[in-house]
Amino acid sequence: MLTVNAYAATSATEPLIPTTIERRDVGAHDVLIDIKFAGICHSDIHTARGDWGPASYPLVPGHEIAGIVSEVGSAVTKHAVGDRVGVGCMVNSCRECVNCLAGEEQFCVKGNIGTYGVVDHDGTRTQGGYSTHVVVTEDFVVRIPEGLELDVAAPLLCAGITTYSPLNHWGAGPGKKVAIVGLGGLGHVGVKIAHAMGAEVTVLSQSLKKQEDGLRLGADHYFATSDPSTFEQLAGSFDLILNTVSAKIDLDAYLSLLAVDGAMVNVGAPAEPLSLNVFSLIGGRRSFAGSLIGGIRETQEMLDFCAEHKLGAEIEVIPAGKINEAYERVLASDVRYRFVIDTSTLV
Ligand code: NAP
Ligand code: ZN
Ligand code: ZN
Repeated sequence: MLTVNAYAATSATEPLIPTTIERRDVGAHDVLIDIKFAGICHSDIHTARGDWGPASYPLVPGHEIAGIVSEVGSAVTKHAVGDRVGVGCMVNSCRECVNCLAGEEQFCVKGNIGTYGVVDHDGTRTQGGYSTHVVVTEDFVVRIPEGLELDVAAPLLCAGITTYSPLNHWGAGPGKKVAIVGLGGLGHVGVKIAHAMGAEVTVLSQSLKKQEDGLRLGADHYFATSDPSTFEQLAGSFDLILNTVSAKIDLDAYLSLLAVDGAMVNVGAPAEPLSLNVFSLIGGRRSFAGSLIGGIRETQEMLDFCAEHKLGAEIEVIPAGKINEAYERVLASDVRYRFVIDTSTLV
């Protein structure tokens, strides 16, 4: 066992605190990763605060992990000491169900093993990336290509794959009009990826405060959803709307922006149920769908795509002591555009 420094939530209401946790011994198929950077995803906050149901504490969040391999088990073939690697939202799955065999481990019939807060196959509880080291089975470790710095790559392990996968699945590309709702951690990466895929990209944000940034990141258009004329002006115009908002929104208003056969895909995961009027779909043969991260193979494909397009996250690197402040800023939509923890400050 390896005792490592970490930052943990101890309840749904108290600030996260410095602590130590145990990492398992490196097994034959395991990789020990010296974590360099860990992104702060809004899902970390939802989980730590019990938004999606009770969490078990102490909880070390973090599923946007970038680091260097420092030890490999005897049977490891995919990674070597010194490799630049990443770990996203999953660290294991059953590997034999129909979805695992299709490379969609996120939909494992037996439930994927999340990077933190769940019991892994060996009976230990997983703990995430707000720590200095992690031991992960080699199949759930991906390669960070040359040309992508580890700090800007870290957020791609969740924000990147969560936007790349639906954009890919629903065919974002040349000739397609894509709207991204919410310019936060997921949204800003979604804008970059959709632009790189060749789509015509529109940002739908609460205000025009971040308009200049949105256009610089690759959006062609930018509208404020607080302005009712936005909904009149854009009615029936999008092929795909990707909703990254962490709170409840008026789905019917957004569905009215879809063209015939358009799809609105929710990746935002608010605590409250969302409701819609079915006529918002019937009226234009529209779809409303959801999407969960992406499989390991597609995560590697996404990283290679981002490296090819020289595309990383826009980040603010923080020391561990600022994690609680960063949480409050994310909750206030005051993130430009992902906080990333420098894990060398976990002392
Ligand atoms: P984030 O950085 O906080 O971004 C969310 C953005 O939504 C904000 O920046 C804000 O953008 C907008 N927003 C926030 N509150 C709003 C409100 N009340 N009304 C309208 N817009 C609002 O969060 P994130 O890390 O990108 O995560 C976004 C959501 O996706 C979270 O719920 C997270 O749990 C979920 N998620 C899902 C998956 C998945 O696999 N499906 C994976 C990762 C995360 P503007 O200021 O531009 O309006
Ligand atoms: Zn996430
Ligand atoms: Zn499975």
